[in-house]
Amino acid sequence: MLEEANLWNYLAVAFYAVMIAWDMFSDWREKRLSRTGRDMLANVAMGAGSLVVAALVTGSIFTIFDALYQLSPWHIEPTWYTWLACLVLVDFGHYWAHRFGHEVRIGWAAHVAHHSSREYNFSVAVRQPWTHHYLFVFFLAPAALGFPPVMILTTKSFNSFYQFWIHTERIRRMPRWFEFVFNTPSHHRVHHSSNPIYLDKNYAGIFIIWDRLFGTFQAELDHEPTRYGITHNIDSHNPLVINFHEYHAIARDVAHAHRWSDRLRYIFHKPGWKPGDGPRPIVRRVVALFR
Ligand SMILES: [Zn+2]
Ligand SMILES: [Zn+2]
Repeated sequence: MLEEANLWNYLAVAFYAVMIAWDMFSDWREKRLSRTGRDMLANVAMGAGSLVVAALVTGSIFTIFDALYQLSPWHIEPTWYTWLACLVLVDFGHYWAHRFGHEVRIGWAAHVAHHSSREYNFSVAVRQPWTHHYLFVFFLAPAALGFPPVMILTTKSFNSFYQFWIHTERIRRMPRWFEFVFNTPSHHRVHHSSNPIYLDKNYAGIFIIWDRLFGTFQAELDHEPTRYGITHNIDSHNPLVINFHEYHAIARDVAHAHRWSDRLRYIFHKPGWKPGDGPRPIVRRVVALFR
């Protein structure tokens, strides 16, 4: 089964290569490649690096999932409906892992790499961080519930595969029912935009339903054109800078902080937190309950 999964991964990488080449060719024909080419190459380098890291760590992650699966009182048989259930559970885990990557600064330090391109094309899909694999902890629940590790890793790979095609401006809108249930190019363009109204919205992997349920959905608005990138854009195509600049910024802030509570907040509060901003709204609400 693992060999079969490997074959699908190779096919996926070949598909990504063809689609990215299509975008490069289009940009060359429209005389935009001199602007977008370096960014696209950086994205491909990020993708290649993330494949190497994945090859190094996936075995250990599999072992951890397997240990939990062995401890589980249930052992789920693979049928079409248990595969579907696993896909939904993994997508739910993805929603929270992705939200962590945006709303906790140490998570953002890894995930920012996916957002620092100011372009939006298929190559941005493979612009993947090299330091986010610890987020496998968000997928431990299916293993504890008795889903075999191969099912979890396969549905997780499919989740990433699904998200490739939504990194495009070629598709404006899908049919209304599809836009309601699934993540689409339109929803994900919002996710990659730094317009204040679009910030920290649409964390979905496959099902946009999670954002609708948990209050993080934002539709793409015709009167608000998307501005891709991050609030403070970096001026580098170096994969090391792309991967580690926010870790460096955290270390600098922590070194200059005067109190331990501030040091912790620089690491675990929302990105952009500064002394005087106070605790998170959720913490404020809990504290108010006990007053
Ligand atoms: Zn994101
Ligand atoms: Zn994306």
